Amino acid sequence: MVYLVSARKWRPQKFEEIVGQEHVRVTLQNALREGKVAHAYLFAGPRGVGKTTVARLLAKALNCEHGPTPAPCNTCPQCTAITQGSSMDVLEIDGASNRGIDEVRELRESAQLAPAGGRYKVYIIDEVHMLTTPAFNALLKTLEEPPRHVVFILATTEPHQVPPTIRSRCQTFNFRRLSVGEIAGRLSFISEEEGVEVEEEALVLIARKAEGSMRDAQSLWDQAVAFGEGRVSLRSVQEMLGLVEEDLLFRLGEAILKGDVRRGLEVVEEAFDRGVSLGAFADGLTEHFRNLLAVKVGAPPDLPEEEVARLREQAEARSEEDLARLLVMSSDVASELPRSPAPRLRLEVGVVRMAKALTSVSVEEMLARLGRLEQGLKEGTSSVREPEQATEVHPPKDLEELKGRWEEVADLVARRSPRLGAFLREGRPRRLEDGMLELAFGSTFHRDVVNRQRRVVEEALKEVFGTKLRVRALKEEVEPYEDERMLKKVLELFDGEIVHQQG
Ligand SMILES: [Zn+2]
Repeated sequence: MVYLVSARKWRPQKFEEIVGQEHVRVTLQNALREGKVAHAYLFAGPRGVGKTTVARLLAKALNCEHGPTPAPCNTCPQCTAITQGSSMDVLEIDGASNRGIDEVRELRESAQLAPAGGRYKVYIIDEVHMLTTPAFNALLKTLEEPPRHVVFILATTEPHQVPPTIRSRCQTFNFRRLSVGEIAGRLSFISEEEGVEVEEEALVLIARKAEGSMRDAQSLWDQAVAFGEGRVSLRSVQEMLGLVEEDLLFRLGEAILKGDVRRGLEVVEEAFDRGVSLGAFADGLTEHFRNLLAVKVGAPPDLPEEEVARLREQAEARSEEDLARLLVMSSDVASELPRSPAPRLRLEVGVVRMAKALTSVSVEEMLARLGRLEQGLKEGTSSVREPEQATEVHPPKDLEELKGRWEEVADLVARRSPRLGAFLREGRPRRLEDGMLELAFGSTFHRDVVNRQRRVVEEALKEVFGTKLRVRALKEEVEPYEDERMLKKVLELFDGEIVHQQG
């Protein structure tokens, strides 16, 4: 379908066509008019709002045969080559995949050479915050003494992750998120030019979904045109958006139920790339688990029969307790997401946790095991033990299960004593032997309080695990908090590093 290239096809070729970044446009055009061109620019702002587009326009303005000019002609060989992406003098580099020292060194060497045909060599480095420290240092050397014919345009969604030494050498432009009206207006223009019949409300819905990103909006518009077979109605867009999300939610649910962390994170990434609002997505996941649970307990939600059958199939593999647990966990994530400084990471950590939650022993299996034990005791097939020693039959991995559900214990205690509950969250179960659970605490104060009130903890343990355990608190270096461990794991999976930490 011809429409599938609208973002490229309708990329602004004149400064006047840029939507929403008036302050950037005016400042750059004035500088071009007065011949005051900087050697390095930093374009900061959310994705899909025109940073690369403006960078290419600036390159054109600098190299146009009639330039430097605030109004590049778009017809000379230089302009045409830049539009086609074939100019030898305008080099676009993706910082995410060329983040090493070697790439930057190569860049430095090539920067020394004169332009091939244009006036300037323009280097556009996208996602520049992804560069490694040595690469930044190499780049800095070039920025300190830039050859006269070189202009750097660094683009980033994360300006605070760009070293201050680099930032201070650049003229910074902050690009802003586009308003619903600005996006809908542009989509309306494109629709008219393409001869596509549209309902205004449909464009407004697309613009809302795109959350300020023109690129996401155009990609949604493409999909809507294909989905509606050339006609974009509010109804068809609603249906399309619903189907995309529904499909993603089903796949995420599947991954979590199977304990497949990697797959789960891939679905989150896909949702993000498709411009799905993460807040709505987390709400949708909660809804999905609620539906699975409803189907499981024989009270299917009021949904098309086909969908209920699909839910039933997915719910098959897990118990009511498991589904209830996931429902609680996902609703926690959904309620925290709007307040989180890093919503995507929060969602990812949540997905990792949910997927991990079921790979430890299920509650049902645990109860079955205890049932077998009880049965054994009644029939006298195993030697008679004191109830305290019952834990002996648990295989060593039960400490892992205990760790996995430690938060539940802490929550239960918190209901009786919020302070003690808070202390327990700081502690780590470290050994389980002969019915004795050792808890490690980083401070002697926490240790002493827990020891004094260990009865409360023991009662909570009995309630959660159905087993009597004794508790002893110790002072010890404790492992990092769960969140940090999960964060590390997520970063490992993405092969990333902590460049900047919130709070
Ligand atoms: Zn030109």
